[in-house]
Amino acid sequence: MTDIAISGLGKAFGGNRVVSDVSMHIQSGEFVAVLGPSGCGKTTLLRLIAGFERPDAGSIRFAGELASSASHHTPPEQRDLGIVFQNYALWPHMSVAENVGYSLKVTGVPAGERRRRVAEALKTVALDGMAERRPSDLSGGQRQRVALSRCLAARNGIVLLDEPLANLDVHLRAAMEHEFTRFHQASGSTMVYITHDQSEAMALADRVAVMDAGRLVQFAAPATLYREPATEMVAGFIGEGIVLPAEDIIADGAGRAQANILGAPVTLRCAPGERARRSAAIGLHPQDIRLAVPGETSLPARIRRLSYRGGSFRAEAVCEAAPETVLAFDLPEQAPLAPGAPVSLAIGDGWVIPA
Ligand code: ADP
Ligand code: MG
Repeated sequence: MTDIAISGLGKAFGGNRVVSDVSMHIQSGEFVAVLGPSGCGKTTLLRLIAGFERPDAGSIRFAGELASSASHHTPPEQRDLGIVFQNYALWPHMSVAENVGYSLKVTGVPAGERRRRVAEALKTVALDGMAERRPSDLSGGQRQRVALSRCLAARNGIVLLDEPLANLDVHLRAAMEHEFTRFHQASGSTMVYITHDQSEAMALADRVAVMDAGRLVQFAAPATLYREPATEMVAGFIGEGIVLPAEDIIADGAGRAQANILGAPVTLRCAPGERARRSAAIGLHPQDIRLAVPGETSLPARIRRLSYRGGSFRAEAVCEAAPETVLAFDLPEQAPLAPGAPVSLAIGDGWVIPA
């Protein structure tokens, strides 16, 4: 069992700072997703953890032992970790069983035990009938399961995964998500899973580390990211988030605040330490917006677009007071509204994004 302690990590290529002052402590056996838009430095962070890159600043420790710093470097093969890539990285000339057993052979595990561990690992990912096939005879999903079973057989304390589902179609992705959860339960490994897909990160991980332009902006449980985003970027990135401007924020010191959103008085959630502010950004989700009942405080808006979601419609409405502000929300299938229709919208459960 291995925890990962990353402290003040930095990496630049030429003058381009790609990872900036990243600190995080990943618990032993934890499943952590690293989430962020393309180019934000996720793969570079993973390559630093794996030891394929050396940091310019900061350190990485596994189970308390220094693996990387500006002056120390433990080579990748001496780090107890397995890696699963987007493109599977299997040897094409080896059978499935040989691929899974290869690292055991290299590290001198005796043939009998090797066979046993390979068979057990293939069984765990439901590939026991495929041991003698070549990777080219397998589907994308099966190849990714071979890559996973390789980590199982090697019993790596840490498994790093870089966008492992990116090459698979939508239906396979859902099935493979289940496969990763099972793998995690079977292995007990510490897992670091890189993705740009927020729903994948939220579904799989115990905690999600959100990166923005090389920095770690929030490291928290999925529900915390969803309900209490630390920055506007997180608020907009998670769960179809909507960010609205608010004015005259008055906090009560116990997690509640009053504010004006586009002229309408609204009650919001906020951090207990939140103070009075002239303006703030508010994070909310389509689930927090609905048609107001008569007499309720509401925002006048106009339906711009309706798209059928199966069982409901996703509506987009433009605020009368701020035509550039679009509010998305869900309408029941029976709701008789057409584009252009005026609506009054009630806003509930918004979050005051910290200053
Ligand atoms: P992500 O995985 O989040 O898409 P990367 O870590 O791959 O992001 O890349 C972050 C930035 O670092 C990009 O601008 C990329 O071009 C740059 N970069 C990554 N690796 C190298 C390298 N070996 N040399 C120069 N620039 C690199
Ligand atoms: Mg990447």
